[in-house]
Amino acid sequence: MTTTTTTNPTTTTTEPRPALVTLALEGGDLACLACGVAVHGPHAPGAVVTLAATGRDGVPTPAALVESGMPARLQTEEVTRCPSCEKLRMQALAVVAAHPAVAHRIGSRDIALHRVECALDALDALASLGHRTLGLDALTRSGKDVRLLLAYLTSAGGAARWAARFAPIMARNATTGTAALTAWGHVDDEHAATLRDAYAGLLRARVAVPRPTAPPALTADHSAPAPRGCLFCGVGAVLAMPGDHNAWHPVTATTSALGGRPSPEPVRGWLCSPCDAAVEQVGGALGPTAMERALLDHLGVGRTLSATDLVGLVAWCVVRRPAGSQPTPNATPWAHLGSLAHLVDELRHG
Ligand SMILES: [Zn+2]
Ligand SMILES: [Zn+2]
Repeated sequence: MTTTTTTNPTTTTTEPRPALVTLALEGGDLACLACGVAVHGPHAPGAVVTLAATGRDGVPTPAALVESGMPARLQTEEVTRCPSCEKLRMQALAVVAAHPAVAHRIGSRDIALHRVECALDALDALASLGHRTLGLDALTRSGKDVRLLLAYLTSAGGAARWAARFAPIMARNATTGTAALTAWGHVDDEHAATLRDAYAGLLRARVAVPRPTAPPALTADHSAPAPRGCLFCGVGAVLAMPGDHNAWHPVTATTSALGGRPSPEPVRGWLCSPCDAAVEQVGGALGPTAMERALLDHLGVGRTLSATDLVGLVAWCVVRRPAGSQPTPNATPWAHLGSLAHLVDELRHG
């Protein structure tokens, strides 16, 4: 078996980065998995983490290992946490404990703890680079604060850790049995820039306000233009935070199920969040029941419908229009149905 290397990453690096200065570990010393400094032993068994590299950056995995299907475990390296980074981990624990909803959303307390710790590592690394940041209290006051912190800093912090030089792929310049000369001294220009950009993004997101946001211009698979409103209610914009990719939900439906004329061509486009929630409530089928649910939720009419209540309900995307004309989105949900006040009256008293 031959392995072909088509690109050599070293040739794409234009600016030389400062040489990494490390020290060789002695005796039972281990490197801190976050900031990289040497930590003197002995270490409590629970404090030692074993990193396993499945390869080295730029070095093809031996063909025999690829063929055997076994993950290559080329090198392991034991690391621990220095007192300062252990303190950060304790702070991360406190953040997770103070905001149980954050771990609940992530689905695992351990993963939440890891993400918060990486974000705090990012702040620590930024401080070591001389970058001033907001205090931890300000950055973790509410659940939303914590979610933004994780969204912007976790991956940059994780990538900047000493441990990231060893697992899952060993960096070209990583040598086992070494430590960083100073805390975060191993952070190169590239990671430093990533950390700064991530923090700038966090600051922007923290002051961002929701803005009217139209559905994506294309269908989810980018193959065709999407209708410019919610397929159900026709609303042309919803309030969403900049960069929020969950404001619109991709769907495919048949025209007849939406109250339109039967067509072999399905309608593909986007639902606003309230309409999407209605679809979920009724079990996921895109049809009259889901549309009724969405309309009733919008009208604030809590009653359950009988089968005949809203016969003939038509989704915005299948309203009949003159041939060739582009459907105009509704300024308010369901405006294509005409007077909703009248409908509310009927539903309440009818
Ligand atoms: Zn450390
Ligand atoms: Zn809608």
